[in-house]
Amino acid sequence: MKIGETPCKSIINSSGIEGVDYAVNPYIGCAHACTYCYAKFMTRWYHKGEKWGSFVDVKKNAKDCMLRDAEKRRRGVILFSSVTDAYQPAEKKYEITRSLLEILVDHDFPVEILTKSSLVTRDLDLLSRFDEVEVGFTITSFDEKVRRAFEPGASPIEERLDALKLFSDAGIPTYAFLGPLLPFVSELGFEDLLNRLASSVGRVIVDRLNIKAGNWKNIEATLEVHYPEILDEFKEASREPSVYYDLLRGKVRRILDERAIPHDILF
Ligand code: SF4
Repeated sequence: MKIGETPCKSIINSSGIEGVDYAVNPYIGCAHACTYCYAKFMTRWYHKGEKWGSFVDVKKNAKDCMLRDAEKRRRGVILFSSVTDAYQPAEKKYEITRSLLEILVDHDFPVEILTKSSLVTRDLDLLSRFDEVEVGFTITSFDEKVRRAFEPGASPIEERLDALKLFSDAGIPTYAFLGPLLPFVSELGFEDLLNRLASSVGRVIVDRLNIKAGNWKNIEATLEVHYPEILDEFKEASREPSVYYDLLRGKVRRILDERAIPHDILF
């Protein structure tokens, strides 16, 4: 893993993501190295030609930018993060995310966290000081083999579930982003996963896999190594339109309805 430093001009940036006004990305690149990552498009501008997941640049002056941006921007919901993971391993050493949250809590900005790292539990004290906050975990499968294959640098699923429980028990609103649901492999243990989430999240968002930003090459390579027997069906199911996802939509809705979990299905 190549860790570098980079300056930034601003840190609170407008976002087109539904439900949030801004995104804060304290790092460029992501050590979680998910093979389906949509943020891989960043390599058009940064670390051209390098493998996504092999570099992380720390925005060293992010705190100075935040002090300025928090004064300047109108109040709105801020997502951590949209094209990186704010709690990836580098955060343990650099504490950039924590330093930014410390400023935001004083400026009363609502914050939404979306991560795949249990490191976020380090900031439970700080996050509990926000008037409006929601902590979410992305989970694509209940199966650790799937996690190791597709999200090699991220926290194990059990750690994510334990972290959600911890925040929920502490009275902090929580959610799970179940996506991208990967054809066939995300279905392994899906009902058990929802049984666990039913008592520790306030809502669930579900999305399908989209082939974009050049992610198919990495997905295909992962399937060739770990799931060669389903490569062709996986490819077919990932197309648009997809009979597989049409059927999965109904199945997922039934499982969520049975457990009375509030949800948004995005496909
Ligand atoms: S955690 Fe998010 S940003 Fe990081 S590699 Fe995975 S999908 Fe991409």
